[in-house]
Formats: sequence, C-alpha cells, structure tokens
Amino acid sequence: MSEPTEKAKTEHAGKEKKRGLSLGRLNLILATIALLLTALLLVATYRADIGYSSMRNSTENYISWQQSAYKMQSASDYLTDQIRNFVVTGKREYLTNYFKEVNVTRRRDAALVELRAALGDSQAYAELAKVMEKSESLAQRELYAARLMIESLNYDVTTFPPEIQDVELEARDLSMSKVRQSERARNMVVDATYVQKKAEINEGIQNCYALMIDQTERMQSEALRALDELMYTQRALILGLIFIVLAIVSMTSFLVINPLVRCVQHIRAEQSIPESGSYEFRFLAKTYNHMFEASRQKKEKLAYDASHDKLTGLYNRAGYDYLMGDVELETSALLLIDVDKFKHINDTYGHEMGDRVLKNIAHVLREAFRSDDYVCRIGGDEFATIMVRSGPQFTDLIRGKIERVNDKLLHPTDDLPPISVSVGVAFGSDDHDKSGIVKHADRALYQVKENGRCGCAFYEG
Ligand code: GH3
Ligand code: MG
Repeated sequence: MSEPTEKAKTEHAGKEKKRGLSLGRLNLILATIALLLTALLLVATYRADIGYSSMRNSTENYISWQQSAYKMQSASDYLTDQIRNFVVTGKREYLTNYFKEVNVTRRRDAALVELRAALGDSQAYAELAKVMEKSESLAQRELYAARLMIESLNYDVTTFPPEIQDVELEARDLSMSKVRQSERARNMVVDATYVQKKAEINEGIQNCYALMIDQTERMQSEALRALDELMYTQRALILGLIFIVLAIVSMTSFLVINPLVRCVQHIRAEQSIPESGSYEFRFLAKTYNHMFEASRQKKEKLAYDASHDKLTGLYNRAGYDYLMGDVELETSALLLIDVDKFKHINDTYGHEMGDRVLKNIAHVLREAFRSDDYVCRIGGDEFATIMVRSGPQFTDLIRGKIERVNDKLLHPTDDLPPISVSVGVAFGSDDHDKSGIVKHADRALYQVKENGRCGCAFYEG
C-alpha cells in the first residue's frame, strides 16, 4: 500500500473530529451576546430617560397644579377683601375691582379650566369645582351686602353693574334705617356664616392641595420604582458587558497569544508544536507538525544519502571526512583498508560480480568491528575503519580481526570469488593532526602491499 501524500495528511488533520474551542465560533457567540447586551442597554437607557422625564413632569405638573389652586384661593381672597373694603369704606372703586375680577380677570375660572385640562375628572378637580360652587354661593351673599350698602349710601343703583342691579333687597332690609342697613351689610361679610363659608372654601382648597400631593407622590413613586428596576437592569447589563470584555481578553491571551508565543518558541527550537489551545491553533499545529515531520524526514534522508555509500550502505567519503573531524582522533585507531588485486575480479568476473564482492567485504568488515566503530567506503576498493577509544594496546586484537576478515574473504560460503584485503593501521597521538594519522596509516598500508598483501601493518614512528 502506498504512503499517504502530505496533502492527504493535512486534509485528514482538518477532517479529524474537531477538538478544542473554535475561536471563530467563540468570537461569533461573544460578539452576538455583546451586541444583544448593548441593544438591551440602549433600550434600558431610553426607558430610563422616559422615567426621568416622567419624574420631572410630575414635579412640574405639581407646581402648575399648585399654582392653579393658589390662583383660585387668591382670587377668592381678593373678592372677599374688595367686598369687605367696599362695605366698610363705601368707595365704589372696590366694587369696580370686585367685578373686574369676576368678569374680566376671572382667575377662578382660569384655575378651574387649567386644572381640568391637567387632571381631567380627577378628585382634585372635583374638589376645586366644589370650591368654585361655594365661592359662587358666597358671591350671592357678597352681592347682597354690596347692594344693601349702596342702598344705605343712597347711591344710584343704575350706575352699578347689572349683577348689583338684579339683587332684590328683602322688604325687611329695605325698611331699616340707613345706619342699620350699612351695619347689616358689614355684618353679612364678617359674620359667622360668612366666615364659615370662607373656611369651607379654604378647606376645599387645602383638600385640593392634599389630593394633588397624593397624586404627585403616586406618580413619582411609580416612576421611581420603574427607574429602580431599570437601574438594576442597567447594572446587570453593564456587568454582562464587562464579563464579555474579560472573556474576550482571556480568550485572546489563552487561546491566541499564549499558543502563538509557544508556537514561535518551538519553531525557533526546530521542534514540533504542541497541539493545544483553540481548535484553529490545534489545526495549525497539526498541519505544521505534519509538514515539519515530512521536512525532517526529507532532511534526514538527504543527510543519510549524502554521508552513506549507496552500494554498501557504509559511510562514504563525505561521511568519513565528517567523522574524521568529529571523533577524538587522539584516542582512536585509523585502519586504511584496500582490496587486493580487485581489478582482476572485475576483469575476470565482470563489474557486477565486483560490486557483489565489494558488498560482501563491507558486510564482513561491519561484522568484524564494534557497533560504535565507524566503517567507511572511501573510494572504489578502499575502506577505512575508525576505531574509537583505541590505542596501541589493541594491536593484537586488531591483527586478529584482520586475520579473521581475510579468512572469511578467502573462504567465501557462496559463489563469490576469494579475495583479501591489505590494512594499514595508525593510532592517534597528541602530537599529530588528522592528516598525520591518515599519512601514517597510508604508509603502513603501502608496506603491506609491498610485502605481498593480505594482512596488516602498524605504523611505528
Ligand atoms: P592492488 O592490490 O594494488 O590494490 O590492486 P588493485 O587491482 O586493487 O588496484 P587498485 O586498487 O588500483 O584498483 C581498484 C579497482 O577497483 C579499479 C576499479 O576498476 C575498481 N573499482 C573501483 N570502484 C568500483 C566499483 O564501484 N565497482 C567495481 N566493480 N569496481 C570498482
Ligand atoms: Mg586495490
């Protein structure tokens, strides 16, 4: 079965069951809640505005109602004063003032109209209407007293307004002396009956005030209750909005900023990203990790290919060069190995067989040394082994290994032709560098080739 492609893997990551909170969805939910709360807050603010207006209106109304009632009272008092002044002084101007108030200024009528317009058929209006009636009835008495006074003063009654002319004096009063008539006229506007009626008018007006206060209080307490409720609603909505803001801040830091910082740290450290945080971040991390793993594997393969020999699987020349710069040569042994008369193999059995022989030599060499030693193919039929943590005390051991290698190569188990190798060995020391040890091993190898091949020689200073 073929390996899934990178694209397919990424798509698979996307199709996997969604894990973690989705930033997009959370954002949408929070924005919707915030919008909803804002809309509710606007409505509550609008309603609070109406509530405040109604509070203000009720106060203004009270003031205007009070002014109307006051107008009624002061008009009534004014009429009383004018009539009393007339019956005491007999000066016509007071009567003129009286009728001017009744017929022209008409403050009592105006007050009644205003209150009816403002309060409708309310109790306060009914009370004031009653006051008006009482005031009208008191006016009858006042007109009678005025008419009697005119009679006592012998004024020409036709020079007075028709309301006065229309008053018919009782025979009993007409028969009285002028002094008695004026006394009786004065008495009529100060006696107990008059005072009683006047007190009733004042009481009516006081009742009207009390009713207006009552109505105003009712209106204000209703408006206050509504305002209180709105205040609580507004507070709750503001708390909700604060919560949303905090949620957005936490969401941004926990689901975006923190994972982002972690991501950057891991990318910089050339590591895969932890799959945590929001759904989007998990998806990003998953996708990145797939790509990261693929690229790592590619790099590893490239590095392996660049440092290994295709035919034998051993380190190649580049790998050998790298190792020679990397290992501690002072405590290592370098074995340069050259196949004896390899050209002959190629010439006799063909190149293909030559390759098989090379592969077998690689295998035998690999088996002969420890796993931490490095076996390399550094040229056509040239091999090298770097034996780490090795020194002259290993001379016999190395000789034994080479003997066993050659023994195996000279007695192949399958159809391979027999072959041998020549090996030059040098040990690292503190006083020579990489080129030194190579030169020494090469000199030792040359010696073996000179002395008939198939064996090993150690460089000896
Ligand atoms: P000597 O004992 O002196 O080393 O003799 P030799 O014949 O081995 O001589 P030399 O080392 O100079 O020859 C190496 C030969 O190895 C030359 C070349 O044709 C052959 N060769 C190099 N690389 C390959 C390869 O990859 N495959 C095969 N089959 N032969 C190779
Ligand atoms: Mg050779």
